[in-house]
Amino acid sequence: MHSLPKDPIPAPQSPAWQREWRESFRDAASLLAFLELDPSRLPELPRTDPAFPIRVPRAYALRMRKSDPDDPLLRQVLALASENDEHPGFTADAVGDGQAQEGPGVLRKYDGRALLVLTGVCAVHCRYCFRREYPYARQAPSRAQWEQIYARLGADAGVEEILFSGGDPLSLSDSMLRWHWEQALSLPHVRRVRIHTRLPLVLPARVDDAFLSLVAELAARKPLYLVLHVNHAREIDEAVLAAARALRAAGAILLNQSVLLRGVNDSVEALAALSRRLLDAGVLPYYLHQLDRVRGTHGFEVEETKGLELIEGLRAKLSGYGVPKYVREIQGEASKTEIGKVGGRE
Ligand SMILES: *Cc1c(COP(=O)(O)O)cnc(C)c1O
Ligand code: SF4
Repeated sequence: MHSLPKDPIPAPQSPAWQREWRESFRDAASLLAFLELDPSRLPELPRTDPAFPIRVPRAYALRMRKSDPDDPLLRQVLALASENDEHPGFTADAVGDGQAQEGPGVLRKYDGRALLVLTGVCAVHCRYCFRREYPYARQAPSRAQWEQIYARLGADAGVEEILFSGGDPLSLSDSMLRWHWEQALSLPHVRRVRIHTRLPLVLPARVDDAFLSLVAELAARKPLYLVLHVNHAREIDEAVLAAARALRAAGAILLNQSVLLRGVNDSVEALAALSRRLLDAGVLPYYLHQLDRVRGTHGFEVEETKGLELIEGLRAKLSGYGVPKYVREIQGEASKTEIGKVGGRE
């Protein structure tokens, strides 16, 4: 197991979102006390995992229902004892990121796209995370290494899109993010930049005026595709709606990808409510991911046959663009694989 890098310690004049982030819940006891939820009402005991501890911003915990052990937001972040159980087929690197690694910080799996792991730090620790055992800390590139990485990408005309991922790239300061983003924009053959993040959702204060002007400035140069990771309609409260609206106004194109999660969004009602709420926020549902079989995540798995039924149910209810593509990642394939499609593998 790796240990995540330490959070940057914000100076007193640091942005409000960083100070708010410092106030996050970091253990089950304080989160459960805040929710007025007696641990004896949980299906299992909470688990302490020093390598991937509980981390929940207060802004996110405020959207959870009090005293509800089944709350779909709580389920995403509360570590339970059964994470320790071993299940056949659930491994540390289920999606072959190790093999796709081109060097520290860079994953090249699909044509035209380079995924950069800008940081190992996240604002929230999602228990279903497919990168929960990714060896971030050991490989965080230095500034000099990043310069070499961008030089290498600049020499590869096949790269048309740079993806910023992590960890969560928006856990970086605006100035770090600007540096990376400008490096990517300066590569002539790069046509657009994509950022995958959960921060506007779990800590909407991140989307402050300084960040919005950064987006407005840089998204004017080449399109910015911002992919949010929302799994449940109730994750989008008024503050998140406002953040999404402001990001669109600043020029970002907003997409969403979710993971199909047992006990969180494994019903037609939950997925339809999620799509409707996303469309209210001006966010297009992009992917619904089948869970990657990463050690510790077994409790979230939903059968693919059920997933296909859910997608059928959605198609009958929503506009075509409200239905995400149901995909999974198969190691060695040329793209994510659409489940249930002819040509897709069973
Ligand atoms: C998922 C993924 C992408 C992006 O794939 P899209 O289908 O374009 O969303 C790019 N690089 C890596 C390594 C990925 O895992
Ligand atoms: S924000 Fe993303 S990378 Fe971070 S723990 Fe959650 S799912 Fe994993």
